[in-house]
Amino acid sequence: MKLKLWGTRGSLPRTLNNQIFSELLIELSHNAEAKGINTLAEFRKAITSGKLGVPLTFGGNTTCTEIIHKKTRCFVDMGSGFLEAGEEALKDDIHEFNVFMTHLHSDHLLGFPYFVPIHIPGNKFTIHHVHPLAPKYIMEMFNGVYFPVKWNELQADIEFKQLKIYEPTQLSDLKVTPFCLDHPGGSFGYHFESEGKKACVGVDGEYKRLTPKELGKDLIYYQNLDILIFDAQYELNELASRSDWGHCSPNIGVDLALREGIRNIYLTHHDPKSAEAKGFRMLEAARKHKKLQLPAHADLWDKLNQPDGPNINMAWDGLEIDVDKL
Ligand SMILES: [Zn+2]
Ligand SMILES: [Zn+2]
Repeated sequence: MKLKLWGTRGSLPRTLNNQIFSELLIELSHNAEAKGINTLAEFRKAITSGKLGVPLTFGGNTTCTEIIHKKTRCFVDMGSGFLEAGEEALKDDIHEFNVFMTHLHSDHLLGFPYFVPIHIPGNKFTIHHVHPLAPKYIMEMFNGVYFPVKWNELQADIEFKQLKIYEPTQLSDLKVTPFCLDHPGGSFGYHFESEGKKACVGVDGEYKRLTPKELGKDLIYYQNLDILIFDAQYELNELASRSDWGHCSPNIGVDLALREGIRNIYLTHHDPKSAEAKGFRMLEAARKHKKLQLPAHADLWDKLNQPDGPNINMAWDGLEIDVDKL
């Protein structure tokens, strides 16, 4: 199983203005200096070789994750990153698409009209959703006001499939199950399982319910995961003033991973106002938190043969993760 992260921002795309670009360049030049890079030629080489770090930016597209298992390819959400996913699908000559919608907030939908395969006859496109009104609201995007092409003018064969929470859907040999997240208006995570590998997209979620008892029926979708894509939009000290905004913080994901045996956690739904420096600071803090909390869970992690506990990483636009190699 592979994951491709096409969009990792939340709420809004992060646009690149003069100030952000200048800050990134200045940071890169400091980084280069610290690594003893003295010439422009060396600097140019270092940018592409990874010597200045990977990634150089987390990117600016809103949330869209592709799950690839053998010939099955499906997506969770259609944020602005969906545009680039569509371009790759064209190159790869893919004609059948499945999308699983977490919820209908605009950052998870705004790429849909720009996904070129929906404008090509013969393509088959299925939108799986838990929210019963998803078809109504998604079709409304094509009412001629928000986008020039109308729903009945779309060229692909598009259908909706209503899902029930906790009831799996089988796409070839990939089992996909929706479960509940804590988010205003409701949001649904997706658990993917095949050949003993388990991946989970847990976005958007505030994780107000955390204890096993509070999580109830949702608990099993976190247990013994190979990878969790986790909503970590805010620093822990920002959360208090953002109660009920529907997003979480890295350390809470780390606690969950430590307790439930989640081997890899990727932090995503980055705040559009967060610079890379803040993201790396949050990552650093989360890794420190893990080290401090690990001794209380040492038995579990020894049993899992991963004595250092869960691996914690940032998600970024364009990142590809081979779950089989984690
Ligand atoms: Zn969102
Ligand atoms: Zn949302």
